[in-house]
This record gives sequence, structure tokens and C-alpha cells, in this order.
Amino acid sequence: MRRTPFTNDFSWSKSRHEKFSECLRAYYLYYYRSWGGWEAEAPKEARELYVLKKLNNRYTWAGSVVHECVRDVLLDIRAGRPVELAEVEARARRLMQDDFRHSAKKAYWTQKYRKAFTGLVEHEYAEALPDEVWKQNWETVRAALGWFFSSRWPALARTLKPAQWLEVDAGYDFSSFTLDGVKVFAIPDFAYVDEAGVPVVVDWKTGKVRDGYDEQVLGYALYVSQRYKFPVEKVRASLVYLNEGLEQDVQVDLTAMEAFKARFAQSVAGMRAVLGDPATNTPKDATVFPMTEDVSQCARCAFRRPCGRAEAAAQAQAQQQAPKVA
Ligand code: SF4
Repeated sequence: MRRTPFTNDFSWSKSRHEKFSECLRAYYLYYYRSWGGWEAEAPKEARELYVLKKLNNRYTWAGSVVHECVRDVLLDIRAGRPVELAEVEARARRLMQDDFRHSAKKAYWTQKYRKAFTGLVEHEYAEALPDEVWKQNWETVRAALGWFFSSRWPALARTLKPAQWLEVDAGYDFSSFTLDGVKVFAIPDFAYVDEAGVPVVVDWKTGKVRDGYDEQVLGYALYVSQRYKFPVEKVRASLVYLNEGLEQDVQVDLTAMEAFKARFAQSVAGMRAVLGDPATNTPKDATVFPMTEDVSQCARCAFRRPCGRAEAAAQAQAQQQAPKVA
């Protein structure tokens, strides 16, 4: 059998921390058991887990389409190319129609498609969703793009000189740094230096305002300060809610950074405690990664079949969707 050319090195990201906190079994399947599943000769279980872990749900899909579109708009502005809302919207719609068709026939099991999208859990688990739900998903994308174009951001981007652009959603291969010897992935959606010489990191959000995002942008601030050699307390961080039309500044100061680093160290220690061999990032036995007792978590999880929770997830979904009786 051909050896995999990669090693499963330990790294940290906000999304890894979330998975670790939400369900240890999901964490185990996502970061360990599915490893190597991209290989044609991979064992059946690793292959299945790998395909499943790549699936989006309709909310993450809408969010990623918006992010891709906004990234492309900013890159067009940076390159001096014209941008038109109608064109961007039409491209997003075509992309989502193609994505939907690819996913609905479950082609992700046999065909390569595009890096940012393989398919949807809703199709994998044959969830019976009315057309209205899919239309609403498109409306979320359309509304977010519409607000972005009417916001101050495109005009601000046009004022930036080449040296003021730091990065635009540069991806995993580029945006990472090392903290306490651990590789940390931190990919700001937009990072630039304003006219006063202040570095700014921006994170676009689709959907509703919720807690917990501050942590993510603090990580981006630390990344930008390390990579571009700014004092961290000089960085400004903003959360921009494209569907709510809201902007929220996150305080970046030494106290906030110390608190971030303490939570990071605690998170890494927890992840290392479930390793049999930290030097090779080899996990302990599967029993150390129990399935969550909160079945409502399974309702959107891609691993519900290998976990034997497909039926329970369907019931949890039905309960979540049932009209509430006052
Ligand atoms: S289906 Fe449930 S128990 Fe299994 S990994 Fe997903 S959230 Fe965890």
C-alpha cells in the first residue's frame, strides 16, 4: 500500500476548539479517524469519514458562498477591476444552483468538484426540507451581498494604496502562526492598514449576532501582529454582520490578549491530554472520545450514521422544527 505523503501534525484553530468542546467523538472522527481518507486505497471507514467530514450544512454553505464572493470583490478592487452587485449576485446564484445539483445526486462520493464545497448533509441524510427552506438560504446570501455592496467597505477598499493591503482570506496554506510552539491557523477575512497606520482585521459574519466570535478575532489580531510586526495592542478588530447590517469592534489590549493566551493554553492542554503519544499526535483509544449525550448536537452532524445516531438525529430535528405551543 502507498504511504500517505502527509503527517497528521497537531495544530490549533478556533473551529478545532469548538469541535473539541461540543462532542469528543466528532473531534476524534474529524481530526483522527478520517485521516488519509482522501487516498484512493484508503480503508473504507477512513474514506467514508473523510467524505462526510467535508460536507457542509445549508447554513455553512450559504456563509462560505458569501465569503467567497466578498473575497473576490475585494481582490477585484485591489486589482483595479470593476465590480457590480448584479454580476456578483448572478454568479453566486449559478454557483449555488450547480452546488445543489452536484450535492442532490450525492456525486461527492465519486467525483471531485470544487475545493470549498463537496456536498450537503441535508442530501446525505435525505432530510425532507420544503423548497421554502432552500429559497430562504438563497435569500440569506442575496441579502448579505446586497448589504455589503451598500456598506462603507467597497468604498474603503478603493481608497487603499497597495502597501495598505495586508491580506484577503488568504487560506490555510498562508495564514498561520506559532504560539507556545503550536501551529495556529488564523485566517482573517480582510486585513489592512488604515490611513492613520493602524492595522485592522475584519471578520464577515452571516446570520445572527452571537457570543464567542470575539475569541476568533483576537486570534486574528495576534496573527497579524506577529506576521506584520505590529504591537498587538495597536491592532483594531471588527466583526461585521452582513445580514444584520451591524459592525462591532472587539477590544484588543494586553489584558484581552493575556486572557486569550490563557484560554488557548487550556484548550491545547485538553487536546494533548487525549493523546497517547503527543510527539506523533496519536490519539488514545476511541473510548476516550465518548459520543455527546446531547442528541440535539447530532441533528446537524455529518457523522450521525457512523455513530448510529441517524434515527435519533432525525427525531431531534423533528422536535426542533415542530411549532412551539405557547
Ligand atoms: S453524531 Fe452526535 S455523537 Fe456522533 S459525532 Fe456527531 S455530534 Fe457526536
